Amino acid sequence: MPDLRFQSQPPRHTEVPRPKRAEGQWSLGYTEPLNKNEQSKKDDDPLNVRARILHIYSKRGFDSIDPADLRGRFRWMGLYTQRKPGIDGGKTAVLEEEELDARYFMMRVRSDGRLLSSQTVRALGTIGVDFARDTADVTDRENIQYHWIRIEDVPEIWKRLDDAGLSSLEACGDSPRPFLGSPVAGVAADEIIDGTWALEEIYRRYIGDPRFSNLPRKFKTALTGHPSHDVSPETNDVSFVGTVHPEHGAGFDLWVGGGLSTNPMLAQKAGVWIPLEQVPDVWEAVASTFRDYGYRRLRSRARLKFLVADWGIEKFVEVVENEYLGQRLERTPSPASPTGHRDHIGVHEQKDGALYVGIAPTVGRVSGTLLVQLADLMDAYAVRGARLTPYQKIVLIGVQPEALEPLLDDLDRIGLSARPSQWRRNTMACTGIEFCKLAIVDTKNRARDLVAELERRFPDLDTAISVNVNGCPNACARTQVADIGLKGQLVLDDDGNQVEGFQVHLGGATGLGANFGRKLRAHKVTSAELDDYVTAVVTAYLAQRTDGESFADWVVR
Ligand code: SF4
Repeated sequence: MPDLRFQSQPPRHTEVPRPKRAEGQWSLGYTEPLNKNEQSKKDDDPLNVRARILHIYSKRGFDSIDPADLRGRFRWMGLYTQRKPGIDGGKTAVLEEEELDARYFMMRVRSDGRLLSSQTVRALGTIGVDFARDTADVTDRENIQYHWIRIEDVPEIWKRLDDAGLSSLEACGDSPRPFLGSPVAGVAADEIIDGTWALEEIYRRYIGDPRFSNLPRKFKTALTGHPSHDVSPETNDVSFVGTVHPEHGAGFDLWVGGGLSTNPMLAQKAGVWIPLEQVPDVWEAVASTFRDYGYRRLRSRARLKFLVADWGIEKFVEVVENEYLGQRLERTPSPASPTGHRDHIGVHEQKDGALYVGIAPTVGRVSGTLLVQLADLMDAYAVRGARLTPYQKIVLIGVQPEALEPLLDDLDRIGLSARPSQWRRNTMACTGIEFCKLAIVDTKNRARDLVAELERRFPDLDTAISVNVNGCPNACARTQVADIGLKGQLVLDDDGNQVEGFQVHLGGATGLGANFGRKLRAHKVTSAELDDYVTAVVTAYLAQRTDGESFADWVVR
């Protein structure tokens, strides 16, 4: 087989040209909309669609929905129309959006790093059973994602979510999207600082706040006080990362401007020290800077990462301080980047003597029924709560040591193992063609079958190799930072026919040595050949690796 490592392009360093003309920033006086998305947001605050859903659309049905709400403002309520079944990926780019629409919705419910009680997990499961054809996926932004939602059922779903202390508000749209919080906040023995209060406070102050409901584009937040940096802070618009100041103690560094998709960039580190109680104010200052200075002319340049790349981190922090925060942040070196797992799978000691247990659904595919079963186990074993993770996994918090062994057996029995194979542990998949209108290929089912086959072919794999399967270039499952990143596209089979397949990226990483995977032009693989392709790459790695050499290090060796 060819040497898989040397058919690559050089690593891609994103170069962002300096703007030659104004980019539609409000701060420069460009308050007139420059595209239809900006016009829609100006015509009516997207938050207002909630009342129309409750009082008009849910009563009069799907056909009563204003198209500008249906394909625009509904997103601020965590609602997208889902893809009509049976339309292949070749039609994604050529059909009008309404031709791709099913008359059902995907609904995202945000968890924002919260500890979910058994009652809450049961409520989430029951919603899936009652209204979503038993769907309830765990996403890599710590959401529960339903499908097959009817507009008529949305008020009752929102009522149940409200009773459970949850919401779908601003789970999509040009808004502060669901936050990633450390799944082990407040309990991990090695935690630097518990940021729970700050995330709750940011939610309480700013979610549903009209001052932040018209951002240039999506705005992703992550916060962790755990040394493993377990919220993928490199790939969020704004991240707060636990750090220790030699005099002041534990606080947070500020990282800004991360994001993947078609122009991937890693977040830049400010090298500051922010005390817990100041985190919400700094979040507001960063979000305000994005709102006022972010680029609104082109959607493709509207993420915060482009502004940070153009300005540089020093200027960005100065604007945050001088124009919004009104004070200078304390400078201190950024925390060292970690190595190793960030997913908390398996059994770990808490600082209070109890245990936390990370469990692994396969590629985030869960169901309402499974969540109800999990809630029953949480009650039976007096488990304190559960958190969702950025790796499509679940962590049970507050497991008593004497309950551990029978709990682990029961978790295995329902298919949520705390002792998964390396493949099941380290594979993620986005929504894909089953439900996503942007998708070109199937992901969840393909990735599940891949995991099963790799478990058969490499049952004793002794090292982590992450495989992230994406249905299009948007990289929702973080294509570029996986050992094996798969970007869905149409490829040619041996007979010259266009079929579902993937562009391969190899050797991406977060943490120490954070890097984007090499895009290997020659490595395009059909979906049907994926098992054999991954097998060939992994076989080459296992044969050639030196002692302790990771997959990512082998790729760039
Ligand atoms: Fe949809 Fe593409 Fe995102 Fe997958 S990566 S969920 S196909 S937009």
